[in-house]
Amino acid sequence: MNPSVSRENFDRWIVPTYAPASFVPVRAEGSTLWDQQGNAYIDFAGGIAVNALGHAHPDLQQALQQQAARLWHTGNGYTNEPILRLAKQLIDATFADRVFFCNSGAEANEAALKLARKYAHDQAGEQKSGIVAFKNAFHGRTLFTVSAGGQPAYSKDFAPLPAGIQHAVYNDLASAAALINDQTCAVIVEPIQGEGGVVPAEPAFLRGLREICDRHQALLIFDEVQSGVGRTGSLYAYMHYGVTPDVLTTAKALGGGFPIGAMLTTEKLAAAMSVGTHGTTYGGNPLAGAVGGKVMELINTPEMMAGVALRHQWFIDGLNGINQRLRLFSEIRGLGLLIGCVLNQDYSGKAKLINQAAAKEGLMVLIAGASVVRFAPSLIISEEEVKEGLARFEAACRAVIEGAGS
Ligand SMILES: *Cc1c(COP(=O)(O)O)cnc(C)c1O
Repeated sequence: MNPSVSRENFDRWIVPTYAPASFVPVRAEGSTLWDQQGNAYIDFAGGIAVNALGHAHPDLQQALQQQAARLWHTGNGYTNEPILRLAKQLIDATFADRVFFCNSGAEANEAALKLARKYAHDQAGEQKSGIVAFKNAFHGRTLFTVSAGGQPAYSKDFAPLPAGIQHAVYNDLASAAALINDQTCAVIVEPIQGEGGVVPAEPAFLRGLREICDRHQALLIFDEVQSGVGRTGSLYAYMHYGVTPDVLTTAKALGGGFPIGAMLTTEKLAAAMSVGTHGTTYGGNPLAGAVGGKVMELINTPEMMAGVALRHQWFIDGLNGINQRLRLFSEIRGLGLLIGCVLNQDYSGKAKLINQAAAKEGLMVLIAGASVVRFAPSLIISEEEVKEGLARFEAACRAVIEGAGS
């Protein structure tokens, strides 16, 4: 028999890097989760833009179970069929010729940054090592990626940090141009800053970065860990913008909840990563390959992308209605099903309170910084669930407004 466990055990047993909600989810289906007490929650969080096909999708269950009965792991001394099929799907669907598989977004970015350094060292010498990233960016929590991220609060306690990384202002091309030169090996950017507050890039900003990178032979890396796999209504956000990177990282929704990450690049750049230059024990394992392949098959269709656009409109219409009644948000922004509600001055800093009030109403939402409420639901969430979830969201907002003076 399993011993009983509860939320209190977290506070005693787990390294306290997280402050999870007061309830413990035990089961989920589609866009509904149930906790230990049997309370139901509508899921507008999507496991932080991961559960793109909701929970317990029957086709994903089948893909995982069939593979689980065949082959789990061999290590990279052997390749396997599911990961080769997924690589082909990604190559056929994008600009890329080559794929490196890993297990998370941070690892995909780590691989991208290492590729950029290696390629530049090979081509131009070790002085071409500069990396330009952006303030408020998020690229993961390894020391290299957290240093590339533009939130010093996440990196400063771990100094000394990897050298050679500078941060420009997002959506400010001049500030990037001032830092990019012939010693720059790469520019890494999110087409939409997710953790940084759901801030879409301006098209001219990404186009300009592409031009400046070409001028200085610097690689343009798009971190699409959050924006990828249909989230914006395009398979990858670079397609929406019409700006093609040299390297693209993808993770989160690619596994629909199963851990996987990937770095996509061109034939020419991939050649720098010769045998032995980089690796991971679990990267490209058959279980992740099987699930990722099914996710790609289900998401990379025109119908799915049209469905994201439709759902975007349900959210925007509903949220605009709420805002007309409650006057909470200064802006509602985002692309597809990555949406941020920016709290106005009166409620600034209260996103976490709304998140907690929403849980009490039976709704899971995300925050992106102290003053942005973020939604990243399943790409196939139903109209009824969106309506009911938004009603619960409005109730949660009212509760915060009523308690706001206290
Ligand atoms: C979540 C995220 C990462 C990190 O992914 P992990 O799987 O948590 O390592 C990197 N970049 C972006 C844009 C993300 O949203």
